[in-house]
Amino acid sequence: MSTVNKELNIILMGPPAAGKGTQSELIVKNFHLPHISTGDMLRAGIEKKTPLGLQAKSYMDAGQLVPDEVIIGLVKERLQEEDCKGGFLLDGFPRTIPQAEALDKLLRELGRKINYAILLVADEKILTARITNRRVCPKCGASFNLETKKPVKDGICDLCGHELIQRGDDTEASFRVRLDAYAKQTYPIVDHYKAQGVVSEVNALQSIEQVYGEIEKVLKD
Ligand code: AMP
Repeated sequence: MSTVNKELNIILMGPPAAGKGTQSELIVKNFHLPHISTGDMLRAGIEKKTPLGLQAKSYMDAGQLVPDEVIIGLVKERLQEEDCKGGFLLDGFPRTIPQAEALDKLLRELGRKINYAILLVADEKILTARITNRRVCPKCGASFNLETKKPVKDGICDLCGHELIQRGDDTEASFRVRLDAYAKQTYPIVDHYKAQGVVSEVNALQSIEQVYGEIEKVLKD
């Protein structure tokens, strides 16, 4: 368990399949923060067939970003819940400049700000190879990899026992669209946060423990 004295308002950035989900699980467990993953929130909506989930599904299956206004509304509500008062970890949000600007505005209104924007850096060719091995739990959101993070029991989630699935957008074609969306729409937010002096880069192509070790060092600094 890790303790720090200040409020931790963290963003985890990086290309798809860089390990944001896996590292998020470790960060929130050790620093006792709520994990706000917009991808998980949308997938939960799809599973429950909510109007939001149904609206988001076609974008997600195609690897495209869901419209800003949908996502911004979702995060605004979530960040104002009680458990976010002491800090939070945002995973997969913001993903566009308008989302980053909306987040800045909301936090300003709440008298808060992002104090860490961690960027996972990884080569795209290696990520493409990684993606086909990914399996996720549709119930609790845990993520596994058939090569590097196998579930104890084949096809079953270690955490909640639900059957694991391959995400609909983890195909090579959809992944290429997601990488492209990352380069064009999401990467510019790195400069947005660099201007605020809060970005720390971490090499994502190390073991899960090594990547986490570097992140922990940043957060305790
Ligand atoms: P993720 O689980 O973070 O890889 O997100 C999966 C998919 O959900 C993305 O490819 C988008 O279609 C959608 N999504 C998640 N977060 C966002 C966001 N902040 N803005 C737009 N679309 C998003």
